[in-house]
Amino acid sequence: MGKDTGFLEFDKESPPLRPVDERVRDFQEYGTFLSEENLQRQASRCMDCGVPFCHMGCPLGNMIPDWNDLVYRGRWKEALAALHSTNNFPEFTGRICPAPCEDTCVLNEHYTLDAAEKQQKVNVVTIEEIEKHIAERGWAEGWIQPQLPEKLTGKRIAVVGSGPAGLAAAQQLRRAGHDVTVFEKDNRIGGLLVYGIPDFKLDKKVVTRRVEQLRAEGIKFQTGVHVGVDYSVKELRNSFDAILLATGAQNARKLMVEGSDLEGVHYAMHYLPQRNCEVAGDSISEEQKIESGNKKAVILGGGFTAADCLGNLNRQGANPNIHQFELVDMVPRPTPVHKEVNPDCRANILTEKIISDDSGRVKALQAVCVEWTWEAKGTSAPGRMTMQRVPGSEFSVSTDLVFLALGFLGPELDGLLEGLGVEVECSCRRKTFYI
Ligand SMILES: Cc1cc2nc3c(=O)[nH]c(=O)nc-3n(C[C@H](O)[C@H](O)[C@H](O)COP(=O)(O)OP(=O)(O)OC[C@H]3O[C@@H](n4cnc5c(N)ncnc54)[C@H](O)[C@@H]3O)c2cc1C
Ligand code: SF4
Repeated sequence: MGKDTGFLEFDKESPPLRPVDERVRDFQEYGTFLSEENLQRQASRCMDCGVPFCHMGCPLGNMIPDWNDLVYRGRWKEALAALHSTNNFPEFTGRICPAPCEDTCVLNEHYTLDAAEKQQKVNVVTIEEIEKHIAERGWAEGWIQPQLPEKLTGKRIAVVGSGPAGLAAAQQLRRAGHDVTVFEKDNRIGGLLVYGIPDFKLDKKVVTRRVEQLRAEGIKFQTGVHVGVDYSVKELRNSFDAILLATGAQNARKLMVEGSDLEGVHYAMHYLPQRNCEVAGDSISEEQKIESGNKKAVILGGGFTAADCLGNLNRQGANPNIHQFELVDMVPRPTPVHKEVNPDCRANILTEKIISDDSGRVKALQAVCVEWTWEAKGTSAPGRMTMQRVPGSEFSVSTDLVFLALGFLGPELDGLLEGLGVEVECSCRRKTFYI
């Protein structure tokens, strides 16, 4: 393990974020780095638990106590190898993963008794930070190089979708010796890493650097090819020995209320890609451009997508009195962008109507407070939560823009899945695929 008494001697420390006044004027990452010495001290806090709950919290199965110990001992190259053995792209997850490993870290679960402190993870091992530093050390030292397959199988594999799932699968398949082609309908490679997540959370150079590694390993990319539309499923089947679907889940949940089709109401995933493209230097046509300078805005939703809208709106000079409403009984998760703009964040708010001005543009949003209750045994929906409007709590807010960040229901049905005969069952609760 790290240092026997590390968790008793040292407090948790994270690198400071860039000052708010500075970072809201640009789109560069708001995160910074700890010194090597400080990071090793943080790694020394890991107790190498007999049952490492952090490991169970990590969907990738990252071997967290192993690389914490290696960092503590200054064995960075071995730490990188341990990290890469379960995670193709630790520099992505080290920046943007919600870090369920830290939620489940034993230092959080058992040594933090105060519930509020537990929620803020005041005592955990800074696992995500250590992960980011290991990866960046690997790049800086030149330890991350293309790894060519030892032998070729002669099998051709198509990967459809170039998000992190498609890229990781492509890298593993190529390293196993297959001839891999990744198809991507957009112009850039990276999926939501590039088109959804803003640069202030994840600098796109970080993605490009990895894509270059993948190219050098022999993976071929075909961008601007919408499989099932521009490239037939028949051709796909005939040209490849295997097809791997990594098309994401970008079918956005809709707002089914009067006025949701008004001018000024936008899906978050119409707004965010154009912001990212502009930051990357593309010009957006005047008809398509969603201007928010000096405008009032309401964001519906309480997740990452909503927070990313907030950070972009603030950087684009929107009116700072932004409202963020969440339907369920959970105040939107505070993120660094909430500290930048301090919006009016409220939970338990149901949008009832979006009101138009005389020219068909959004003028106001009308809503009501709700209460959620668990249905008891013997009711029509036992164990389910039901929602009731709170009488007399109706209110409206004046706004120029409404952004819908209401979550995603599954993959978009655009010809590919139907053409392959994939039956899709999607709902907000269940998502099952049969092939
Ligand atoms: C705004 C936003 C912010 C987020 N922030 C975070 C965060 O901070 N932390 C976090 O952990 N997660 C975050 N997420 C979630 C994360 O981005 C996704 O979980 C992740 O990108 C999913 O990866 P994927 O490879 O499965 O799919 P995607 O990234 O969606 O990639 C799928 C790719 O497939 C392509 N494609 C689809 N169909 C076809 C076709 N027929 N032909 C060719 N190409 C096709 C798409 O164009 C896309 O590029 C965020 C998501 C959004 C929308
Ligand atoms: S749960 Fe926390 S302390 Fe225990 S091994 Fe994992 S990171 Fe270390």
